[in-house]
Amino acid sequence: MSIANNNKDVSWAGRYVAVIVVSLILAAAIGSMDLFEKTFVIQGKLSASHLVRFLGYSSALAALWMLGQHATLVLHKQGGRWAFMQHLILPVVTLVVVASVNSIALLVLKPMMNAAMHNIYNWVFIVGILACSAWVLMAVLGQSASLTQAFTSIAERIDAVGKTKECGACNTSNEVTAKFCKRCGKALPETAA
Ligand SMILES: [Zn+2]
Repeated sequence: MSIANNNKDVSWAGRYVAVIVVSLILAAAIGSMDLFEKTFVIQGKLSASHLVRFLGYSSALAALWMLGQHATLVLHKQGGRWAFMQHLILPVVTLVVVASVNSIALLVLKPMMNAAMHNIYNWVFIVGILACSAWVLMAVLGQSASLTQAFTSIAERIDAVGKTKECGACNTSNEVTAKFCKRCGKALPETAA
C-alpha cells in the first residue's frame, strides 16, 4: 500500500465510531432492562442499571477522546490544507468530554454525595469547562490565519460558481477561474476577485 493511499484512508475512524455507537446502544438497551433497573447496589439509590449506563457512556466518551487524538495525529502526518485543524480537534473534543463526564459520573456518585459535596463537584466541573473553553479560544486564536485562509478559499469557490469570462479570440464562455480557453486554448486574462 502506498503512502498516498494511506493518507486518504479514513477507515481507522470507523472503529472508534463503531465503539461509540455500540457502547451507547448497549448502555441504553441493557440499562432499561427490568433486571438491571430493579437490582440495587445501594438500596433505592444506585441500581445495576445506573452502573451499566455509567460504563457504557464512559466507554463511548473514551473512544471519542481517542478518536480526537488519532485524528490529530493523522492530520499532523498528512499536512495539507486541513492540517491546521490538528490544533483545534483536541481542545474541542476535551471540552465535550469534560462537559459530558459531569453528568455521567453523577449516575454513580450522586447517591454518595451530600449537598456540600455536590456543590464542590459542580465547581470542579465549572472550572474544568471554563479552562477547556479558554483552551479552545486560544487554539482558534493561534490558528486564526489558517482558519481565515480556509474560509476565504471556500468563499472564493462559491463566488466563482456560475460566473464566466469570454475568450477574446473565439468569444467562448469559460469558467471565471479558467486560465486557458476550453475551445481554442488561448491564454485568458486573470480576473481580479
Ligand atoms: Zn477561445
